[in-house]
Amino acid sequence: MILLDGKKTSGEIKQEIAAKVIELKAQGKKTPHLAAVIVGANGASVTYVNAKVKACEKVGFESTLVQLPEDVSESDLLAKIDELNNDDQIDGFIVQLPLPDHIDEHKVTLAVAPNKDVDGFHPENLGRMVLDLPGFLPATPYGIVQLLDRYDIETSGKDCVVIGRSHIVGSPMSILMARNNKVGNCTVTLTHSRTKNLKEITQKADIIIVALGKAEYLTADMVKDGAVVVDVGITRVDDPSKKSGFRLLGDVKFDEVAPKCSYITPVPGGVGPMTIASLMMNTLLAVEMK
Ligand code: NAP
Repeated sequence: MILLDGKKTSGEIKQEIAAKVIELKAQGKKTPHLAAVIVGANGASVTYVNAKVKACEKVGFESTLVQLPEDVSESDLLAKIDELNNDDQIDGFIVQLPLPDHIDEHKVTLAVAPNKDVDGFHPENLGRMVLDLPGFLPATPYGIVQLLDRYDIETSGKDCVVIGRSHIVGSPMSILMARNNKVGNCTVTLTHSRTKNLKEITQKADIIIVALGKAEYLTADMVKDGAVVVDVGITRVDDPSKKSGFRLLGDVKFDEVAPKCSYITPVPGGVGPMTIASLMMNTLLAVEMK
């Protein structure tokens, strides 16, 4: 079993980006600038946004953190997005999800200018992905593709099962794995909560990408020997022995599944850091596309 080390791989990607930033600066060009908008103070969201801002500093980007109160009105948030869309200093920005219930996430996604949508959530970028045109790929699926690519995992002709069909992870992931690309060319089965006999489906899979948000859901009896398993899930569970008071669990019962796998991602240290690396790659792309 080989661990797909997202922490290490994202570190390598960040080094490559940092070298490009130095090059851009030497050419007298603008330093890439990423902004992150966060609404409220949800513990997990704050952690993710801080990690993104820290990653910006590490690669030499400029970063701006926009913190808005939990009760910010939808119109005020949309006005802030409009301001960022029109700010020439900002190359790309993200609005951290989830948003409070009184804000329509679809309206927010549609409000972000497609050429600054470095999370790759805007319909224009999703459409570009489907048509294999250049654009921003959704950060988490893009990170998974990068990880499989950098570990030289053969995907062509393989049976890939994706568990979960969210707009930000499962659905785009299924499209990327079926595309005619180096990482791709799989026969993909996209599964969800209405899928019958999931175990029979996963047992046949060469590659399983698990993104349903249920801790330790994928068990050893659901996985065939030699499978590649990618665990997207992140669930916080109370753990008084930790300084933070919690620990993170993935959607895969790692201890029993890992020995059966050819490759597997850990949680933490797998897909999470790759998502951040993708965001950096997309921000650099935003500058290059200008
Ligand atoms: P989501 O929007 O909650 O979607 C979950 C999906 O799983 C839905 O499509 C749901 O089906 C499906 N599902 C639920 N129970 C199922 C079951 N028993 N069998 C098969 N499918 C089932 O989730 P998400 O936003 O994609 O996130 C999934 C997980 O990934 C979460 O733990 C999240 O925290 C994590 N995540 C991690 C990263 C990262 O960077 N590592 C990034 C994003 C998300 P229905 O559509 O039928 O309801």
